[in-house]
Amino acid sequence: MDHHAIRSLRARELAVLVQRGSVTAERVAAAFVERAEQTQTSCAAFQQLTAESALAAAREIDQRRRAGQPLGPLAGVPVGLKDNFVTRNITTTCGSRILSDWLPPYDSTHALRLRQADAVMIGKLAMDEFAMGSSNENTPFAAVRNPWALDHVPGGSSGGSAAAVAARGCALSLGSDTGGSIRQPASFCGLVGLKPTYGRVSRRGMIAFASSLDQAGPMTQDVRDAAIALGVLAGRDPDDATSLDAEVPDYVAACDRRVVGKKVGIDRATLDHDGLDPEVRRAFEASIDVLRGRGVEIVEVTLPHLDLGIPTYYALCMAESASNLARYDGVRYGWRAEADTLAQLYDQTRALGFGAEVKRRIMLGNFVLRAAQYREYYGQALRVRQLITRGYEQAFARCDAIASPTSPVPAFRLGERARDPVSMYLADIYTVGANLAGLPAISIPGGFSLARDRPPLPIGFQLVGARLEEPTLLAIAAAHEADTTWHLQSPPKGPA
Ligand code: GLN
Repeated sequence: MDHHAIRSLRARELAVLVQRGSVTAERVAAAFVERAEQTQTSCAAFQQLTAESALAAAREIDQRRRAGQPLGPLAGVPVGLKDNFVTRNITTTCGSRILSDWLPPYDSTHALRLRQADAVMIGKLAMDEFAMGSSNENTPFAAVRNPWALDHVPGGSSGGSAAAVAARGCALSLGSDTGGSIRQPASFCGLVGLKPTYGRVSRRGMIAFASSLDQAGPMTQDVRDAAIALGVLAGRDPDDATSLDAEVPDYVAACDRRVVGKKVGIDRATLDHDGLDPEVRRAFEASIDVLRGRGVEIVEVTLPHLDLGIPTYYALCMAESASNLARYDGVRYGWRAEADTLAQLYDQTRALGFGAEVKRRIMLGNFVLRAAQYREYYGQALRVRQLITRGYEQAFARCDAIASPTSPVPAFRLGERARDPVSMYLADIYTVGANLAGLPAISIPGGFSLARDRPPLPIGFQLVGARLEEPTLLAIAAAHEADTTWHLQSPPKGPA
């Protein structure tokens, strides 16, 4: 099988071939490393390639197979990890100068579980600094480009994770989602992105941004690959007190569940949003028709507080990040500025080590936490979070999932929004609700923008589920996928 044919396979197909010995894990790793290297000049998806250790790990998997040992569910599958998942003795930058040389002393639970499943890590993926952003432009490193149109952003903050899978530099990747960072880049790059229920997947070893909102999840080419990856990642982790002790269902089997009679809710008011691109709206209606065609019943619901999502999310994530990022002081971790006094050391390390967006959030976060206005801002945001959560609970009494676009617009041009943080924040309108309420949500390919003034760009369709209802989301998503071909398209070859 040639390299091109290998790269055209889904993660689960690769695993089956490797388990059977029809192709070696080493050959699979070589095929993806080749592509990852080629596309690095055009897309810059990887923060770092770990080609040598990948090939060594692949050879070790092949040896175990030859010795007759059973292999894991992701046998030989090349994976990439967003660079906020710590990896032992492999630099983990979190997209920041302040961690640019940091070698973690341990592996995140995600890296461990993927390895136990016999996946092969071929690199760490570029991201917005500390996962703050929606375009991957908040970084001191190279900006990632969207494989569908190289002058467009891949989305963020898991932009590298999206671009790498779309360009076939790896077969699946891990992202993190605090306010949409798995789903929005998945939608911009034509992929499936799944944010699990809060606590479904461990946070151990995923560098903290806003701890009450952060979740890790897979980014893949189709729904079944996301289901396999979730099965590997999910489950109680004694080292994360917020991880849930709930049984892990068979997510792959869930993809074959019948959806006839399932109810999907739409809040029509959320589609009256000013910034909603007409093509995204059209694609959304088409996806709803696809679900209807599968026997899904569409019902109207109201999410009374959708417009409050963005201010609530930003107040809370900034407050939590101000607290989480206090640990980067030049003493305990990573990069340290030259200084004569201790005060200067703190000051200069943080002034020069963090980029503008991170500093903006630390300052605003400390502002909303100040004793004088704590009640007015942070306290108020917590109360609104409760209202939003209750709004979802009421809606889920009437339906099994709630549909919306993932992002109001397709990928935008590099630089188009970079200088206007508020326009960047507003793009998160459809995604932050699931994080505030801790609910599972998935973005799946739902069409293409074919407007004359821009290149063909993927559009995402989002489904939000009730707590721990990942199986329901996967079933509905798989039904949608069965009647569409969006997930089968691949980006133009590009200069690579
Ligand atoms: N765009 C959002 C932000 O900038 C989401 C980030 C995320 O999910 N990590 O905060």
